Amino acid sequence: MINGSVSHWWQDIGLPKARPELPGNIEADVAIVGAGYTGMWTAYYLKRAQPGLRVVVVEQNHVGYGASGRNGGWLTNSITGGREQYVKSHGRDEAERFQRAMNDAVDEVIRVAEAEGIDADIKKGGEFNVAYTPAQEARLREFAAAEQAWKSTDLELLEADAAKSTINVAGTRAAVWHPHSARIHPAKLSAGLADVIEGLGVKIYERTRATEIVPHEVRTAHGSIRAEFVVRATEGFTASLKGLRRLWLPMNSSLIATEPLTAEVWDELNWGRGEVLGDFAHVYMYAQRTHDDRIAIGGRGVPYKYGSKTDFDGRTPPATADSLAEILHRFFPATRGAAIDHVWSGVLGVPRDWAATVGLDRAAGMAWGGGYVGTGVTSTNLAGRTLTDLILGRDTDIARLPWVNHRVRKWEPEPLRWIATKGLYAAYGMADRAELGGRTKTSPIAHIADVITGRG
Ligand SMILES: Cc1cc2nc3c(=O)[nH]c(=O)nc-3n(C[C@H](O)[C@H](O)[C@H](O)COP(=O)(O)OP(=O)(O)OC[C@H]3O[C@@H](n4cnc5c(N)ncnc54)[C@H](O)[C@@H]3O)c2cc1C
Repeated sequence: MINGSVSHWWQDIGLPKARPELPGNIEADVAIVGAGYTGMWTAYYLKRAQPGLRVVVVEQNHVGYGASGRNGGWLTNSITGGREQYVKSHGRDEAERFQRAMNDAVDEVIRVAEAEGIDADIKKGGEFNVAYTPAQEARLREFAAAEQAWKSTDLELLEADAAKSTINVAGTRAAVWHPHSARIHPAKLSAGLADVIEGLGVKIYERTRATEIVPHEVRTAHGSIRAEFVVRATEGFTASLKGLRRLWLPMNSSLIATEPLTAEVWDELNWGRGEVLGDFAHVYMYAQRTHDDRIAIGGRGVPYKYGSKTDFDGRTPPATADSLAEILHRFFPATRGAAIDHVWSGVLGVPRDWAATVGLDRAAGMAWGGGYVGTGVTSTNLAGRTLTDLILGRDTDIARLPWVNHRVRKWEPEPLRWIATKGLYAAYGMADRAELGGRTKTSPIAHIADVITGRG
C-alpha cells in the first residue's frame, strides 16, 4: 500500500510537469497565491474576460498539491455549512438563489472541462446518501422533508429496495438522491486547468512559497510580486501565512483507494451511474467509484494537528487506513478480499462558523476565496467567477450572493483550538458507535457537538 505521495490521483497520472520558480521581483495586474482550483478558476475566468490582463500564480509546491489534487472527487452542489445560515442572515430567497448558483456551478465545471478539452473522468450520476441505523434513518427522513420544501434541491427519497438497487450498501434502511452532482478525477481537473490557463497566457511559478501577503504585494523568498490585486487562495495552508494563523483551522481528511474491483464484485454492488456515495453518520464518509473501477473512500483522519500544522505530502497514520477499510468492508462485504492500494490525506480550511467566503477589499487590492470545509470542489468554480467579477468591478448576480465579503471571527488560540477539535470529533465518533450499537435516536452528544460546531 502506498502511503502519501500526495494522493492516489497524482500517482494515477504522474505528478505534473515541473514549472519554474519565481525568477525575482516582478509586476502583474493580478497575483494569485495558490494553484488549487480557487486560484486556477480565478485565473481562467480573468483571462477569458480580459485576455490582456497580466495574471500570475505562485504555488509553494506544484499545481494541485493541496486539496484540489487529493479530494474525494465529489463535484456537488452543497453550500458549505448549509443553507439555513443564509436564511437567517439574508432571507429564504437569497438562500434559494445561492443554491441555484451552486447547481449551475456543477454544470459550469462540466461545460468548461468539455469546452477546453479537459478529460477529468467526469460522470454526472447524482449524489446518493444512505442510512443504515435507525437513528440515521430518522435524520435522513427529517432531512428529506426539509430539503423537499426547497425549489431547487430536487431530492428524492428512496426506500430500502430502491436504494439497494442503486448502490447496494449492507444494512440499508433508506437513502436520498439528487441529480446535481458528478464524480470527477481531482488531479486530472487540476492538471488540465493548469495547462489551459497557461495556454491563455497565465504565468505559474512553482516551488515558490508566499510568506506574506500585504496590500498590492506578495512576498516570497524568491522575490516579490507587485500587483493591483492580490488573491489569497491558500485554503488549508492559510495558517502558515503571516498574520493569518487563526483564520481558518486546517483540518485533515483521509482517503483510501482499493485495487480495481472485479466484475463480480460490481455486480453485487450495482453503483453503475457515477453516483457519489455518502451516509448519515456524524463522522460521515464519502466515496466514489473511480474511472478504473476502484472504490475511493474517505472520512475523518487525524482531524487536526496541534498548532495548525499541515501535512507532509499526504502521509497518513496506518490506523486511519484501517478505520476507512473497516467502513468499506462494513458497507460492502464483497470487497473484503480486495487490496487497499493507497492511503493519503489532505487539508481543508475550516472557518469558525463553517461558512465559506469569497471577497475583495478593493482599497487594499486584497481578495480571498476559501473556508470550504469538505465541500469546495464546486464552490471553487463559483469563487473563481465571483472573484473575477469583483476584481473587474462587475455588478453581477453572483457578485451579490450571500457569501460574498462574509467575515468571521478567528479561532481560539492554542491549546483551546486543539482541545475543542479533538473533543468534538471524539463526541461525533461516540455518537456513531452508540447508533451502530442500536441506539435509535440521535445521541444527545452529537446534538451538543452540532451546536458548538455550528452544524446544528
Ligand atoms: C481529503 C479531502 C477530500 C475532499 N473531498 C471533497 C469532495 O469530494 N468534494 C468537495 O466538494 N470537496 C472536497 N474537499 C474539499 C476540496 O477539495 C477543497 O475545498 C478545494 O479543493 C479547495 O481548493 P483551493 O484551491 O481553495 O485549495 P487547495 O486545493 O488546498 O489549494 C491551495 C494551494 O495553495 C498552495 N499554497 C498554500 N499556501 C501557499 C503559500 N503560502 N504560498 C504559495 N502557495 C501556497 C497549496 O500548495 C495548494 O496547492 C476535500 C478536501 C480534502 C483535503
